[in-house]
Amino acid sequence: MRRLPLLALFLTPLFAACGGSSNSPDAPTDAAPLAPTANPQRGIASTALAVNADAMSATATIVLEPSTTPGATFEIGDIAIVEVKQTTASGAAALLWTDRGNLLDVGVAAATEPVTLTVSYTFSKHTKFDGYTSTATGAYTLVWPYYCGNLFPCHSRPDDGTEFSVTVAPPANGLKVVAPVGVVTEAPSYMLAWAVGDYTDLELGTTPAGTRIVTSYLPGELANAQKGGANLVAAFAWMESTLGPYRFGNEAGTVSVKWGPGAFGGMEHHPRWHVASAALADEETNVHEAAHGWFGDGIRIACWEDFVLSEGTVSYLAGRALDVVAPPVGAAVWAGYQTDLGNIGPMQPVWPMGCNQIDIIKDGLFSRAPYMRGAFFYRAVAGKVGAAKLDQAIGRFYQTYAGKAAHMSDMLTTIKNETGFDPTSCAESWLRSTTIPAVAPCP
Ligand SMILES: [Zn+2]
Repeated sequence: MRRLPLLALFLTPLFAACGGSSNSPDAPTDAAPLAPTANPQRGIASTALAVNADAMSATATIVLEPSTTPGATFEIGDIAIVEVKQTTASGAAALLWTDRGNLLDVGVAAATEPVTLTVSYTFSKHTKFDGYTSTATGAYTLVWPYYCGNLFPCHSRPDDGTEFSVTVAPPANGLKVVAPVGVVTEAPSYMLAWAVGDYTDLELGTTPAGTRIVTSYLPGELANAQKGGANLVAAFAWMESTLGPYRFGNEAGTVSVKWGPGAFGGMEHHPRWHVASAALADEETNVHEAAHGWFGDGIRIACWEDFVLSEGTVSYLAGRALDVVAPPVGAAVWAGYQTDLGNIGPMQPVWPMGCNQIDIIKDGLFSRAPYMRGAFFYRAVAGKVGAAKLDQAIGRFYQTYAGKAAHMSDMLTTIKNETGFDPTSCAESWLRSTTIPAVAPCP
């Protein structure tokens, strides 16, 4: 996420009270059906969605990780469950389930092997960046930070990675669906998305590593797509060569979405990340969302408190990549960052203590503060040890944690190990102090 539309800062989660419980009518008859059992610890290995957006229905094929205890629990927001089945080599059997409002418990046995469930459900339209939104000219989804349950059965914890795929049936109105192609490797639940619109693809080029970069734009947006993507291939290639291989396939790029009036920014829906129409011409937004392929998505944050590891690192990388591949653009980005930094209040949290003890929205962590104080922290380290040396450290971090979850504290350790400079007190000033430091190299 770069910036959220103002509207969304004030939203309140709206979970429809589904009320009561429902049981599948045709439970297996060859064995006593297992009662629905809560087991929120049972992990999700992969999620494959088959969506009929016209009917607003979907089937989620979910592979559960092995578990020594029975049951499974998913967040289901306001989706309405129709049926839950377990699929095995010998066929499919209906399972008992309970809808506990915004949680779904399933009666599935303990297993030493992965177990495959298919969950059929319907979903609802949303208007506050908390699910599926359709407009006169198309549709998009957005479930960051913890609204995945309004779109599919999920676990919203940011460290909980799942493989996923999305197939959306072509809509009756003839509009084009833009969704990830194939199976995407382990990623946070908020990465999953699709968009529908009158899209045209602008081929921006292919990186030396073989990633095809394309911007999908809406009618009248060609010039903005060209402007915003002017250095995107070069910046993406710089990240591939500096940080490590891109994890989400060989086709990636921006998708313009009509988020509505006043909405600026983008969302890291890799490999086809979304950028608000109003920000399509903005190079920093395009490169920022691309950089989430390495931080935030490629490496997941271990706790919401580690948000700065996603947004601070990505803001720095967008400025750094543009500094290297298009120095005048990079200089303008850093000048804009400095302006944004000046508008941050010293009490706005950046890197809170604890793990998943905060609500990232309600407790105010989702502000420009982690982005900018994070970016200038890295800038201060680069001023101390040299930007190229810091590139090496960030690359080493990516190579160590790609596909996993990590803490901001792990980054400090990596910087110390790779550069010989201990950034702890500099991080304390930039990320924790209520006095915002002056922009300068770390002391
Ligand atoms: Zn972001």
